[in-house]
Amino acid sequence: MMRVSLSLCKETMPSLLDIPPGLLNSDFFTPRRHKEKVVILMGATGTGKSRLSIDLAARFRGEVINSDKIQVHEGLDIVTNKISEEERCGVAHHLLGVINPNADFTATNFVDMASHAMDSIVSRSQLPIVAGGSNSFIEALVDGEHFRFRSKFECCFLWVDVAMPVLHQYVSQRVDEMVENGMVDEVRSFFDSNANYSKGIRKAIGVPEFDRYFRTEPFLDKRGRAELLQEAIQEVKRNTCRLACRQWEKINRLRNKKNWKIHRLDATEAFRRCGKEADEAWEELVAGPSTEIVAQFLCD
Ligand code: ATP
Repeated sequence: MMRVSLSLCKETMPSLLDIPPGLLNSDFFTPRRHKEKVVILMGATGTGKSRLSIDLAARFRGEVINSDKIQVHEGLDIVTNKISEEERCGVAHHLLGVINPNADFTATNFVDMASHAMDSIVSRSQLPIVAGGSNSFIEALVDGEHFRFRSKFECCFLWVDVAMPVLHQYVSQRVDEMVENGMVDEVRSFFDSNANYSKGIRKAIGVPEFDRYFRTEPFLDKRGRAELLQEAIQEVKRNTCRLACRQWEKINRLRNKKNWKIHRLDATEAFRRCGKEADEAWEELVAGPSTEIVAQFLCD
């Protein structure tokens, strides 16, 4: 099964020099243009939105605006699966890990901060790429406030989709990797017996699920602790799979009921394969077609 690694991004991507000069961004953000252009990457958790955002940012001189309502908070980098510095390949990111973990971050906050980031990206003649799983935030941005956003920006929507059974297997495996990478201790450092799990970063899947374990571990023997830990990990897996299903349904609703013109990229085969073959499938099925769609969008 594919590990959605970003490590090959530099090698597998054509450089900007491969892109016809007429497609470079500076040509699209001239004062003559009435509407600015923005790419919006959607998809359920674990589908590879971050990877695609880096692929496209490198090909079109983009900057990424995070639209995951949990990753916007500082802290819990493993649990929330934030893209690492290394994986960012030097691409600028906005709204990632910038909000106090205890503070709430609303759709209105997102719209304000994302709009501000978009203006500043455009002023640098770069392409704004919104990427993340919080579809309610994306909907508020695109269709909220009397369609102010639509009057200013033209959107290219891309949806990275993976067949649910394959995605469920992948996200379960990802949870095991998170555990190996220190997830339990990371969550323990945020544990507070009076914690409010409906506020700030503690809403993240992977935090409330460990509450019972942290409360009772001092009173249990080794076997009891191991059992309770396994139960918590299984619960994280189940909740992540449920989140993926809900996100998939929301994207379908935006596409079918609200008639958003969303281009769907089926990444399933890339997830079924391993290593080099997975990277080739990703390029063939996701990164390559997305590059063509975005190039066309910027030309129109
Ligand atoms: P909803 O209206 O259900 O909140 P949404 O589109 O606004 O949906 P989602 O991104 O689907 O927002 O997030 C819903 C919930 O999923 C969050 O409140 C959180 O519990 C969990 N979640 C989302 N992103 C993450 C993440 N990166 N890490 C951990 N949990 C997450």
